[in-house]
Amino acid sequence: MAKRGISILKGIKADEVVTLLNKAYADEWLAYYQYFIEAKVVKGIMKDAAITELTQHAADELRHATMLSDRILQLGGTPLLHPQDWLTHTNCGYDAPIDANVLPVLEQAIKGEQCAISIYSKLIDTTREKDIVTYDMISQILADEVEHEEDLQALYDDIHEFIAEVKKNIQ
Ligand code: MG
Ligand code: FE
Ligand code: FE
Repeated sequence: MAKRGISILKGIKADEVVTLLNKAYADEWLAYYQYFIEAKVVKGIMKDAAITELTQHAADELRHATMLSDRILQLGGTPLLHPQDWLTHTNCGYDAPIDANVLPVLEQAIKGEQCAISIYSKLIDTTREKDIVTYDMISQILADEVEHEEDLQALYDDIHEFIAEVKKNIQ
């Protein structure tokens, strides 16, 4: 634990930040696994485009988990040590892709990204002018989550439109 680095926090305690970061850390691991397994099991129309997107997002979520764990350690905390803790600390939960068709999979993933955006947006408010290093890191993660939502929604809309077009042509 580096003392001077922690001493620059203003009006917020390091352990308060650690608690919030550990919840986000749990979310990132669950999001990583959700994308990982969705990319394996997803099926149906335009699934290759979905697999490409889901695989990229899995890598991003794992990178976010790395960023969060590094910051937790800088603040003198301990990142969650057991995978069981992910489910007890998560904000956004975990949605197993029980229906592996491409549209329901994308719907679940979009819902997850929207939750992540809300959580990081709150964290931004909590750390603004209080913990500049965490604030800056969360801003970067938040920008990725906004991009993720947009990518998934655009893909969802394309597939939806394609299906509607096909239905129209066979009538
Ligand atoms: Mg993407
Ligand atoms: Fe993330
Ligand atoms: Fe994301």
